[in-house]
Amino acid sequence: KREEVPASVHGIDLQLVDPRAIDVVRTLKDEGYEAYVVGGAVRDLLLGLRPKDFDVATNATPEQVKHLFRRAFIIGKRFRIVHVVYGRGREHEVIEVSTFRAFLDNSLAEQVSGNERTSKLALAHMKHAVDASGRVLRDNVWGPQDQDATRRDFTVNAMYYDPETQVVVDFHKGIQDAQKRVLRMIGDPTTRYREDPVRIIRAVRFAAKLSPLGFKIEPKTAKPLVESEHLLKDVPQSRLFDEMLKLLQTGHALASIEQLKKLGLAKGIYPLLDVVVERAEHPFVKAALADTDRRVGEGKPVAPSFMLACVLWQDVKNGWEQRLKKGFHAFPALNDAIDEVFEQRIGDVSGRGKLAADMREIWIMQPRFDKRTGATPFGMVLQARFRAGFDFMRLRADVGEVEEALAEWWQEFQTADDARREDLVAQVR
Ligand code: ATP
Ligand code: MG
Repeated sequence: KREEVPASVHGIDLQLVDPRAIDVVRTLKDEGYEAYVVGGAVRDLLLGLRPKDFDVATNATPEQVKHLFRRAFIIGKRFRIVHVVYGRGREHEVIEVSTFRAFLDNSLAEQVSGNERTSKLALAHMKHAVDASGRVLRDNVWGPQDQDATRRDFTVNAMYYDPETQVVVDFHKGIQDAQKRVLRMIGDPTTRYREDPVRIIRAVRFAAKLSPLGFKIEPKTAKPLVESEHLLKDVPQSRLFDEMLKLLQTGHALASIEQLKKLGLAKGIYPLLDVVVERAEHPFVKAALADTDRRVGEGKPVAPSFMLACVLWQDVKNGWEQRLKKGFHAFPALNDAIDEVFEQRIGDVSGRGKLAADMREIWIMQPRFDKRTGATPFGMVLQARFRAGFDFMRLRADVGEVEEALAEWWQEFQTADDARREDLVAQVR
């Protein structure tokens, strides 16, 4: 049932809404289309949080949307959306505009996966949309707004906000759930996890993000999580990797790990995530996770390469030591150990070249921090990734792995002028 909830009830502060999102909605509505801010932004607004990005949903097709804006790009194959771009350079902002999508009926999906009862007609109808395990494969069938709401994951993620009228459109009692602080899956949770097992990870992420506000996962939504976990084995590795990074890099890494343990999902989502959870209590890894959460909270940038370099540092160190004992020279030993860690822990997740290169640089810089003579330190601070390498060493000092004095020396060296730098180098014996 479609409910229209006025500002006097939902209390959203219009000041928290990005003017560019308001512009997108206004432009579409002026052309006679329906358009709303949607999804996570509405959830955050309702909770009094400033959304970090804004999505807009409309009944205009991607082509129709594109024509209305000077800088708009249709992106995505499986899920075509439009990026409307405002401003340039560092300050630029992207508003994501998606067309209302049809809800592919769950009972049909069930029949397809449940074999015997499958009617030929249902099969023919669903063949393109759902695979043998009931997963949604094709998501580009346009549909009415109520279906667009129903295909979303959680009730609090399925609301629409019109910044002009300040009305929230709510089909699934999202406002009530937001007030009651419950994370509830729309429809039958078991079926929804089967359609798209990544929703399992999303449940963890939102539970972590919203737990400080008192949110709990509704029992019916939580119950099938563990028994559905095995479905993640059919999800492409690259998508799991991305979801893992969202758990760890959006400011709720420690809370996410706590939720994973609490929900019985500490193991088996993704191999590298298993490692993170296993090591979350190690002082160095814990410091890295806490540091990332703090940085995101302060609006500072974070890099997955840094956190993963922290998580896997122990393996690199072990492999390095073993090779040194076998008589390898220091530098090739380190490089070889790093190769092995990549092979064992990261695998061939394609498109991770940059990430791996950054991790390697951070690691390779570590022994170089010991060399503080001659021109070496002057060259070090000029390296593109120096800051990451230094922050890594700083964390090592925090947990007592390197001398505090060494971290302080580099802290001073990097900001000093040339004369002072010469002094600092001269002080080292
Ligand atoms: P965040 O604040 O972390 O961006 P979000 O709710 O905006 O959270 P997105 O991944 O940006 O999450 O997705 C936007 C919206 O799209 C969600 O709020 C939800 O309505 C819908 N959505 C995204 N992924 C799924 C999914 N796997 N299944 C169903 N709906 C989804
Ligand atoms: Mg979002």
